[in-house]
Amino acid sequence: MSNVILSCEGLTKRYENLLVIDNISLNCAQGELLAIGGQSGSGKSTLLSLLGGLEYSDEGEIYLEGQPLSKMNEDELALLRREKVGFVFQSFNLIPTLTALENVEFPLFPIKSAKKDMEERAKKLLEVVGLKDRLHHLPAKLSGGEKQRVAIARALINNPKIVFADEPTGNLDSAAGEEIFQLIKRLNHEMSVTFLLVTHDENLFDKADRIIRIKDGRLV
Ligand code: ADP
Ligand code: MG
Repeated sequence: MSNVILSCEGLTKRYENLLVIDNISLNCAQGELLAIGGQSGSGKSTLLSLLGGLEYSDEGEIYLEGQPLSKMNEDELALLRREKVGFVFQSFNLIPTLTALENVEFPLFPIKSAKKDMEERAKKLLEVVGLKDRLHHLPAKLSGGEKQRVAIARALINNPKIVFADEPTGNLDSAAGEEIFQLIKRLNHEMSVTFLLVTHDENLFDKADRIIRIKDGRLV
């Protein structure tokens, strides 16, 4: 595979005696939309947490742009999470007291840049995801699909190398879920955003570039 942006080799993770990720190796190419499927409890969220530097693995190695994550300390991992990857969760994880615009700007605050530039960038992304009329709405005033659009814009604010999406349509009805998936596809095609998406929604699989499945912590 050319242009590998993210890879792992022999990844293993246990929670006490439970083997949750069992010797997983995979590659994700730059610009790819890779879907990981599997039933509830198969280890999808754990795999994403490991790949995104939210947790350490017990064995194996992860490389983001060729850099091994196991060699990074907590500070370096925090920097990686902030500047190199974006996350989208099933439950949106927006800050309820911040407007849509403020939620999208939020990851920029530790980075020194002019307030006006940050706002312009956040506004532009909200426009890209179809929310230019919702900039000053609080999350409570947005539909589920709109909340997920805000979360996707937030995930893109630092120009990440890869966006990890854990069941991004899991809390949405099928129409809103389809729209979110179409948005992800559009961002992938038009802005060349690399996505690693986890889902147990079989309807979404035929729309991804490539699908891998996991069962009991193993690739199948
Ligand atoms: P999925 O996302 O595919 O539903 P998860 O990765 O969330 O699966 O969980 C895989 C297995 O690991 C499950 O059996 C779950 O109960 C267990 N698990 C997940 N996180 C923890 C944790 N922090 N401590 C103990 N067990 C966990
Ligand atoms: Mg999960």
